[in-house]
Amino acid sequence: MVEASSVIGILGGGQLGMMLAEAGKKLGFKIHIYTDSHDSPALKVADSFMVGEYADTEQIARFAGECQVVTFEFENVNASAARRASEVSKLKPGLEALEVFQNRILEKNRIKDAGLLCAPFRVVKSYESLESAAAEIGYPSILKTAGMGYDGKGQTKLSGPEDLLTLKESWLPNDYVLEAFIAFKKEFSVLAARADDGEFRSWGAIENIHSNHILHLSIVPADLPAGVEETAISMTKKLAEDIGYVGVLCVEFFLTDQKEPLINEVAPRVHNSGHLSIEASSTSQFEQHIRAITGMPLGSASIEHSAAMLNLLGDLWDGDEAPRFSEAINSEEAALHIYGKSRAKAGRKMGHITFKGVSAGAARQKADKFYEKIKKR
Ligand code: AMP
Repeated sequence: MVEASSVIGILGGGQLGMMLAEAGKKLGFKIHIYTDSHDSPALKVADSFMVGEYADTEQIARFAGECQVVTFEFENVNASAARRASEVSKLKPGLEALEVFQNRILEKNRIKDAGLLCAPFRVVKSYESLESAAAEIGYPSILKTAGMGYDGKGQTKLSGPEDLLTLKESWLPNDYVLEAFIAFKKEFSVLAARADDGEFRSWGAIENIHSNHILHLSIVPADLPAGVEETAISMTKKLAEDIGYVGVLCVEFFLTDQKEPLINEVAPRVHNSGHLSIEASSTSQFEQHIRAITGMPLGSASIEHSAAMLNLLGDLWDGDEAPRFSEAINSEEAALHIYGKSRAKAGRKMGHITFKGVSAGAARQKADKFYEKIKKR
């Protein structure tokens, strides 16, 4: 148990770190942030911070030495730096979860070994192995870098053999997976938390709609065929138990014609699709993560309101000027969150807004209407 007023260290200073910091402070903890930029959103709410490279193992060890527990807001934390942090302080979730879920090869093998389903895949370590992987997996397929991938970064779609030749000319040596392109019916995620003593709580399934590989809308409750949500929750629980996970995790799924959904990927951290838990549940994902990593009892994860969360990307900004949100919000059931990033950029997550409604459909309608008003023509 980490006592109140202890210091929680967070590796990463983005919006996830900021919302974790806010939740931690509400529960009486001190928040220490490690980030590579003086301009990070989380610094506005942190009690203290250190700026350095994520690969600077010794500086991260010094940072960890100033904390009673260390966590992370993104999974691409340098593994040797995380290892050093875990030698000096408690790292939660643990090193194994970070190492496995930051690497698509280890992640997919872990999913398979747990007897769970993901898209058919082959490991690719050279251009020659891509040719044989493509012969086995077929087309369309997607080549993904094993590490450092998020929001579709590091991904190339292969529509046919002609795309292999294009890749040959620009081949970048790396570890990859080639996976079958899934003509999914829907995408959804399961957000859950596991405590040190094995207690497991899930907010259930959240329906996700992406645009250009980036999350656009998340909706609860998810509209899924009977039994799928229960299956996905038990798949999430199995993964969390197998690895002795502590904290909030999010598993992204593809819904297909089959009863058992396919796992796309696992985020060993709080997740963009879980932002609606702030308004839709009595315990937000951020508070739950802090509770789990400090050994406090988990809060209720039941969904109490139908809700839709809309991401506000830099594309909506005019240069660095934000859209006139107040003119577009005509519902008091809307909660606007702006992260305070100094520069707007296409694809950059600048904020989000969550609408509550009498049903998932009603909440979604509000979000769609709002988006129509602020969207640039
Ligand atoms: P990822 O970064 O792996 O989560 O991919 C981002 C998005 O790309 C996913 O949310 C899907 O919309 C799409 N995507 C990724 N992998 C596949 C796949 N195997 N088949 C179809 N769509 C995919």
